[in-house]
Amino acid sequence: MVDILPEQTQLWQAVELVAREQLQCAGFKEIRTPLLEVTDLFSRSIGEQTDVVGKEMYTFSDRGDRSCTLRPEGTASVVRAALEHGLLKQGPQRLWYGGPMFRYERPQAGRQRQFHQIGVECFGMNSPRCDVEVISIAWDLLDSLGLNDLALELNSLGSSEDRNRYRNKLVEWFQDRYEELDVDSQQRLQNNPLRILDSKDPKTQSLLREAPVLEEYLCNESSERFLAVQDSLKALQIPFKINPRLVRGLDYYSHTAFEITSKHLGSQATVCGGGRYDGLVEQLGGSATSGIGWAIGMERLMILLGDSISGPTSPDVYFINRGEEAQIKALVLARKLRAASMKVELDGSGASFAKQFKRADRCGAAWAMVLGDDEVSTGQVRIKKLHSHKDSSEKIEFLASANDLDRLLALLRD
Ligand code: ATP
Ligand code: MG
Repeated sequence: MVDILPEQTQLWQAVELVAREQLQCAGFKEIRTPLLEVTDLFSRSIGEQTDVVGKEMYTFSDRGDRSCTLRPEGTASVVRAALEHGLLKQGPQRLWYGGPMFRYERPQAGRQRQFHQIGVECFGMNSPRCDVEVISIAWDLLDSLGLNDLALELNSLGSSEDRNRYRNKLVEWFQDRYEELDVDSQQRLQNNPLRILDSKDPKTQSLLREAPVLEEYLCNESSERFLAVQDSLKALQIPFKINPRLVRGLDYYSHTAFEITSKHLGSQATVCGGGRYDGLVEQLGGSATSGIGWAIGMERLMILLGDSISGPTSPDVYFINRGEEAQIKALVLARKLRAASMKVELDGSGASFAKQFKRADRCGAAWAMVLGDDEVSTGQVRIKKLHSHKDSSEKIEFLASANDLDRLLALLRD
């Protein structure tokens, strides 16, 4: 778990702002759910046999002896909340969320135990065009943040009947090659055979090149759906690559599954993952409602953005003040300027003018405002341009009445 320091929060806020605006433009409304849920919610939805539920959850008993879990992802909580508050009875829903998620994984670059996601969930939107609209929103968001070196990988997981047929075939095929599988995959063959497709083990990967592929087990309807998704992506000119081995880590996905990846992220390449989960609402006790969503991993996004978005914002005014009366006057005036939306950093040290001026230069403020005994006696403040006027060698300095706020603001905004 890591701290996000002031030098980084600037970038986080910029990204969050862009995301919020774009999601609002696309008709999404924010939902905020608790970080803690009853454990059962995740085991019922994500699936007992997945890595997330099997070995990554932060689970503990609370003082009332209930098993609780820090949310490892957002979808299950959003579905729970939507059901609990009857949102799904109010027609199609477009929801977004953001915040920390918790998984007990091996920490490495782009993988943490507390990490952050921004995600969307749509309910009651069934057509393959909706899949593409939802994908395009993630794609365009990442693009507008300046990431245009990304790849969209697409697969269809078919219906649950398709997957059952394929699962049987896959188990049969691997049983004849059991000894060639890595230990993890041997275990998965019992518990969650589709996850073998996700294996990073080189020997298993080369076996997989020969293994039956899911696409061949899709029924006509599922195949048509998959083709329709591809057609709409082409209509939007969003490039994609079909990845027949893309299965996603959670059990509830069906039909469209996708990931947006970057080659600059090493083995943690996926920035955004998502897909359709038509069975999930019913599984959690609601009536059959289609669902589709994605989640962007914020930390991986930050790695990609590096320092591409503006550095820390500097104050408009660094307020230098010294002397008993001057310090109180400065406190009052700083408050008034802030109320007029000026970014004011008030020096609280009482140190020498020279020291305060040094700090003013360092913080990158546009103006230094000075209030000392001399200024108090004339009812004025001194305003000095700091370093923004590189093109003119002219020294810009004013004396202005400390009581004429309008004139002060006009000078500072000039
Ligand atoms: P991965 O295969 O990388 O473990 P996942 O399939 O477990 O990803 P999802 O549950 O789909 O991931 O979460 C969506 C996104 O959240 C991922 O694509 C990734 O960007 C981010 N993410 C997931 N787990 C972590 C983590 N432990 N630390 C940082 N980001 C994460
Ligand atoms: Mg994972």
